Parts: sequence; C-alpha cells; structure tokens
Amino acid sequence: MSLAPYASDPARSRGRRYPEPPAPTRTDYQRDRDRVIHSTAFRRLVYKTQVFLNHEGDLFRTRLTHSLEVAQLGRSIARSLGLNEDLVEAIALAHDLGHTPFGHAGQDALHAALQALGPDGRAPDGWGFEHNLQSLRVVDELEERYPAFDGLNLSFETREGILKHCSRHNAERLERLEPGGVAARFLRGGAPSLEAQLCNLADEIAYNAHDIDDGVRSGLLSLEQLESVELFDHYRRQALREHPQLQGRRLLFESIRRMLSDQVYDVIAATRERLRHSGVASADEARTQAALVAFSDPMRERSRALKAFLFRNLYRHPQVVETTGRARQVIGDLFGRYLAEPGEMPEAHGQRRHIERAVADYIAGMTDRFAIREHERLFGSVLFP
Ligand code: MG
Repeated sequence: MSLAPYASDPARSRGRRYPEPPAPTRTDYQRDRDRVIHSTAFRRLVYKTQVFLNHEGDLFRTRLTHSLEVAQLGRSIARSLGLNEDLVEAIALAHDLGHTPFGHAGQDALHAALQALGPDGRAPDGWGFEHNLQSLRVVDELEERYPAFDGLNLSFETREGILKHCSRHNAERLERLEPGGVAARFLRGGAPSLEAQLCNLADEIAYNAHDIDDGVRSGLLSLEQLESVELFDHYRRQALREHPQLQGRRLLFESIRRMLSDQVYDVIAATRERLRHSGVASADEARTQAALVAFSDPMRERSRALKAFLFRNLYRHPQVVETTGRARQVIGDLFGRYLAEPGEMPEAHGQRRHIERAVADYIAGMTDRFAIREHERLFGSVLFP
C-alpha cells in the first residue's frame, strides 16, 4: 500500500498515552484496529439498535453491521486516495462504541437524566452524555483488558477520529486533562486527519443507503415514496432503463448499489480535486484546512435531501417514534433505580466515586435486550413483549 504525502503515517504518529514498544509485525494503526475488534464494547454492537430495535427482525442493521459497512466504504475510498486504510478501519470500527442501547432515543434519555441532576443543568461531574465522547471514554477508560492501563491505549490519530464532535464545555474539560490533545481542535479550530474526515463521510453514505433498505424492509417506506427523492430516483430509473423487467427488492437493491458506487466515486473525484487545489503536502497541513474529504457540491445537496426525506418519513415515522418512547422510558427508569439502589448494579460500578457517571456508563454499555431484561427484572412491566 503506497501512502500519499498527506496520509497519516504510523511512523509519524503522535503516539499512545502510555508508551508501548512497537509490535513486531503490525503498524500502530493495525494494532489499534485489532484492539478494537477484541474489545468487549465491540462485541456488544451486535445487539445494539441502529434505527430498528434489535429484536424487531434479524435482517435489520445493527451497530455492528453498520460499523462494518462504514469500514468497507472507508477503506475502499482510502485506497483510491492513498490514505491510510488501517487508520480508517480502526476509526470506523470504533466510531459507534459509545452508543447506548436503543439508538438516539437511549442517548437522549440518558442525557436528559444526567442533566436533571446538576444545578447548572449538567451532571455533577460535568460531562452530560454525548455518544462521541462516550466512544472515546470506552477506548480511553472503560475497557478493562490490560494490566498497565485502563482502556485500549490507542494511538492519538485513532482517538482523534473517534471524537467526531464535542461540545465546547466538554472540549474545555478534555483539554485540561490532555493539553493540546484530541479536543484542542474544537477550541482552536482546524480539522482532524483526512482519514477521520473520510470516516465521517463514509458513515453518512452508509446509513443513508442502509436506512432506505431497512425502511423498505420494515414496510415503513415504499418504493413509490422513494421516487420523490432525486438521488435515489436517478439510479432507479437508470437501473430500469438497463433492466426493464426489474422490480421489487431487486430493483431496490440495484438502485441502492448504483447510488452507493456513485457516491463513492464522487467523493474520490471531488476530494482529489480539492487536495490538488489546496496543495497540502502533509497530514498536519491537511489539519489546518477546512475539510477536504467531501462530496462535490451537487452530490452534497442530493445527499442532504435524502437525509431530510429519511428524517421526515422514517426516523419520525409514528411507529418508530412510538418505540423510541418506550425505549426512553426503559433508560429513564433504569437510571433512577440504579442511582437510588446502586446495589442493583454489578459491584464494581456501585463502588465508583461518581455514582451518576457509573450509572450512565453501565447503562450506556448495555445491549438493547439486556436493558429490556433489566427493566423487566426491576419493574416487572413488559414494555417490549
Ligand atoms: Mg455511525
């Protein structure tokens, strides 16, 4: 694999928080990827919701299959651009590790529960709940696998990519703990590595495409409805011109396949052009520019329209909203109960100094089905029959 001059080079990594001798056969980013795959949090992703709850059907995406799709798209684009595939893979596989059960509903409920505690509207330890920050906490602190340190002790560049967004408040706190570290760019401006930028975009490409698929599979979206989405309909008509007999699921798959490929080629071409134009000659120089890994302007517009369509018609579909309401109740109930009775959690959690944070970490780590079972055990009511 030959790296472009602006790619992240493991030989020039800013390193790990706890120095370790290099591995004999793997680069640091390969090693990061391997640590993520062997982590407990990674295995839990298989039972965590993306949009549809894990038990609603075996074929819907989960956070695990979503993460694999992001890694696939990311690597494919990285290879074309001469970016570091291993770093992209490490970031992509880790990017959702901090997600709560029940997708965004779970996260909102946990954030609301923490906010309700503090006099300034924040949890007593000051963090609130953000899934990006939680992903970083998982790899920095919460995984317990190594004798010499908490967390996975990943390279700076992998951690930088995991912290995709961060509120100013949390960035200030992180900056105090790690001056000039992964949160600095949220205070002083600047972009993350090109590999991290690529993962953001691959994430968006992946969920836009697979949410169409899952939406139709669930019966909440129809192919007819999708004809109103320019981005999708373009490829549907193209597919029909070449295969006039195509219909149903095969038409859907072929339209999505063409849409995915075209978005990938668009990112590659548009990014190449931006990189050439910017003249950046190193990974650090790329960090001083506005994001360079991006769609062309027309593709960005079409992608935005698709996202808006999914918001209106899928994420806010009454059936999805109804389920998220119950999910919110499960998380809220569990939070209140563990806080009042820490003995209901495994011992190690109940003994932590900040009990509110311990409860949040414990709940955030749960799979959908474990949270449902815990709720049944503690409250007797069956919210998800
Ligand atoms: Mg994601």
